[in-house]
Amino acid sequence: MITNWAGNVTFSARRLRRPTSIAEVRELVADADKLRVLGSGHSFNTIADTTGDLISLADLPPVVSLDERRGTVTVSAGLRYGEVVPQLHAAGYALHNLGSLPHISIAGACATGTHGSGVGNGTLASAVVALDLVTADGDLRTISHGDELFPAAVVGLGALGVVTSLTLALRPTFDVAQYVYDDLPYAAALDGFDAIMTSGYSVSLFTDWAGPRFNQVWVKRLAGGEPPQEHWHGATLADGPRHPVPGMSAEHCTAQMGVPGPWHARLPHFRLEFTPSSGEELQSEYFVPRDQAVPGLAALDGLRDRIAPVLQISEVRTIAADDLWLSPSYGRDTVAFHFTWVKDTEAVLPVLEEIEAALAPFGARPHWGKLFTMPAEVVATRYPRLADFASVATHLDPTAKLHNPFLTPYLQA
Ligand SMILES: Cc1cc2nc3c(=O)[nH]c(=O)nc-3n(C[C@H](O)[C@H](O)[C@H](O)COP(=O)(O)OP(=O)(O)OC[C@H]3O[C@@H](n4cnc5c(N)ncnc54)[C@H](O)[C@@H]3O)c2cc1C
Repeated sequence: MITNWAGNVTFSARRLRRPTSIAEVRELVADADKLRVLGSGHSFNTIADTTGDLISLADLPPVVSLDERRGTVTVSAGLRYGEVVPQLHAAGYALHNLGSLPHISIAGACATGTHGSGVGNGTLASAVVALDLVTADGDLRTISHGDELFPAAVVGLGALGVVTSLTLALRPTFDVAQYVYDDLPYAAALDGFDAIMTSGYSVSLFTDWAGPRFNQVWVKRLAGGEPPQEHWHGATLADGPRHPVPGMSAEHCTAQMGVPGPWHARLPHFRLEFTPSSGEELQSEYFVPRDQAVPGLAALDGLRDRIAPVLQISEVRTIAADDLWLSPSYGRDTVAFHFTWVKDTEAVLPVLEEIEAALAPFGARPHWGKLFTMPAEVVATRYPRLADFASVATHLDPTAKLHNPFLTPYLQA
């Protein structure tokens, strides 16, 4: 039985294939009638499912190839961020950002528009400058920035083919110092939202929605700046390391208290050395324009009595706009409202419907890799290039090999 990381999805694939070469990937794809690629299985819905062959690229040769002249790295698609980033740092380079967990596959993260935080930081996919794609007929194409297919292919939901390698833009390595503040009053967060979210390279607000406050603010600043204020927007500098979920041990979290360290050991919330093999949680996330953050939060505030009983923790992050068609921040600077739920799908789904209704006036887009309930026709109004994406998918996969019940409603051009 193959399940996702959270264990809430059991895949219906008839078999799992683990090719060890690109030639084998091409053959498998050409021969299959139905297939999907599985990354590290960290999505919470059935986006990766198929009744045919599930293909894992984890056994492909682990290529990490630096091009110092171009300032890029080319990585095999089966690799996880954690397997690549220390090597980049050792060579003097960095990626612009990382998600909360370094154990997620690079290809899977880019395919769903996964992101970290920071008003100046685009999604992780925004670092992609080229990719190799095996299309449904087994052809191998390189798609580079500037090619017509590029803005469709990068956040591709696995619907355009199997990505076998990605080339990512690098920058010089940098150090980050992480500070946590406790108890940011809700009203102060709304009043000072822009000032707070722009106070660091990457800033996250955490709340359990149980009271009128954000339990914690995580500020990740470039190292070497001014020391932080003890009291700030009504919040207090934490007196020890924190876990985002109040009361949980911080032992698996990245170093805090302003201790400087390399970008890859501070931008994720969780340490690379700690590998959670499965999780007792579900997740959802909705994206609204950043200039709608305050009314969006006020709309969620009206649901706190519905949200809090089924919630572990909620996180608010920012993402810079990009031009990748299915990116959650396509065409707009974005604020992301994330929810880590208790693992009880039946209890959570009705709350998602209420959240989606409350955020509808702000054109909320759902995260492709997390749970949501809004119908495909609504999603299509939120992702304005979805119909264009469907045309590309139909062109590249005319027999709908890569379709599954999750995707088909979005791919009918
Ligand atoms: C603990 C945890 C923390 C998370 N933190 C964040 C976060 O900070 N920010 C955020 O935005 N999201 C976050 N997520 C969501 C997660 O990043 C996404 O669900 C992401 O897609 C997972 O990547 P994966 O490799 O596990 O992909 P999978 O779930 O395995 O697959 C997702 C999609 O990608 C496609 N895919 C995978 N590999 C390829 C490939 N080689 N070629 C083509 N398509 C491919 C699959 O077919 C599928 O459609 C988190 C999830 C968990 C469980």
